[in-house]
Amino acid sequence: MPDLPVDELLALDRQHVWHPYGPMPGRQEPLVVESASGVRLRLADGSGELVDGMSSWWSAIHGYNHPVLNEAAREQLARMSHVMFGGLTHEPAVRLAKLLVDLSPEGLEHVFLADSGSVSVEVAIKMCLQYWRSLGRPAKQRLLTWRGGYHGDTWNPMSVCDPDGGMHELWRGVLPRQVFAEAPPAAYEESYADHLREMVARHADELAAVIVEPVVQGAGGMRFHSPAYLRVLREACDAHDVLLVFDEIATGFGRTGALFAADHAAVTPDVMCVGKALTGGYMTMAATLCTPRVADGISRGEVPVLAHGPTFMGNPLAAAVACASIELLLGQDWQSEVKRIETGLREGLAEATAVPGVREVRVLGAIGVVQLDHQVDMTAATRAALREGVWLRPFRDLVYTMPPYVTGDADVARIARAVCAAARES
Ligand code: PMP
Repeated sequence: MPDLPVDELLALDRQHVWHPYGPMPGRQEPLVVESASGVRLRLADGSGELVDGMSSWWSAIHGYNHPVLNEAAREQLARMSHVMFGGLTHEPAVRLAKLLVDLSPEGLEHVFLADSGSVSVEVAIKMCLQYWRSLGRPAKQRLLTWRGGYHGDTWNPMSVCDPDGGMHELWRGVLPRQVFAEAPPAAYEESYADHLREMVARHADELAAVIVEPVVQGAGGMRFHSPAYLRVLREACDAHDVLLVFDEIATGFGRTGALFAADHAAVTPDVMCVGKALTGGYMTMAATLCTPRVADGISRGEVPVLAHGPTFMGNPLAAAVACASIELLLGQDWQSEVKRIETGLREGLAEATAVPGVREVRVLGAIGVVQLDHQVDMTAATRAALREGVWLRPFRDLVYTMPPYVTGDADVARIARAVCAAARES
């Protein structure tokens, strides 16, 4: 394929291509990436390479162009890249399901292989609603979540995102009406635990499930909270006959220092969603896991099947790479690598606390966040990071990073310098 000159490519991009949350025709000036290897993105305009501080939104935990993942993709490509999953099955999907069941919190045993994080949340919500319908309790059809959350951009996931000032405020009044608790405080507070208990108890008759991001609220504000709230939710859900869903799409596969954020609290949800880092960021795949209780309940209904079946369900290429990515992760001392990055970010971001306009600096696992007391000037912040040779994507009042676990110490320090510079120039 002949290479288009960069300016021509950008003109066509502006004219024809939607970007995430982008206007059409495009007004932004994206950078053209030519290739990516290790933790570096090579730009097509000849300006060189950038250290990736974003892991392509939490996903590229092993970095890019990894020989093991490349080989897994190549091997599977030679067998079959895709085949319908209806009535057929194959080794990559079965191996992946078994791996996920073995690694996830004890008690999750059934796996639906979805094709994106949002779809895995849609499936989780459908599972919960269908469960109660099957048991003859169709009134249990609402969801409870806490404010400040984010669960995806399709319809039902949007309804459990933060309703105020969040990304989906446009759809207020049209989305299904859900129940919102206050956002969780960072530290454990008994009064907030009581608030959660009270909300679950008050709405139990209409609640199918509680759905939350455990320990880290990502795209809704990059806030961390005590894992103890997960135990509070588990107990409240058990006491009032409500299912519990954990969305581990961002937190899964080691990002917070535990394999899954639920592990910090030793809690098993009834349903769990994973995505993003599932394939090491190589392919689009996600999964929804559930307990036998949920699966058996659905099977007892008038419609005894889970009514969902996307064309690319169980894609063998993605499943083969996901197996390789998980084995690659488990085959190394990933806890030490995440800890090393946590230490580097803590040290490097400390100077941001003295930057005027910085409200808070927080670090957990391989996640570093600088929150400002004002909205980020995205152009200025991105430019400041680029000057340090780092790719960041600040938004709202946040400059943040979640680097690949293979990022070396010097590059972690460089990313931290870029975050500080972006905060300073916002
Ligand atoms: N849930 C969470 C917690 C997420 O961070 C995201 C992605 N930002 C999603 C769901 C949606 O995943 P996807 O973008 O793959 O649809």
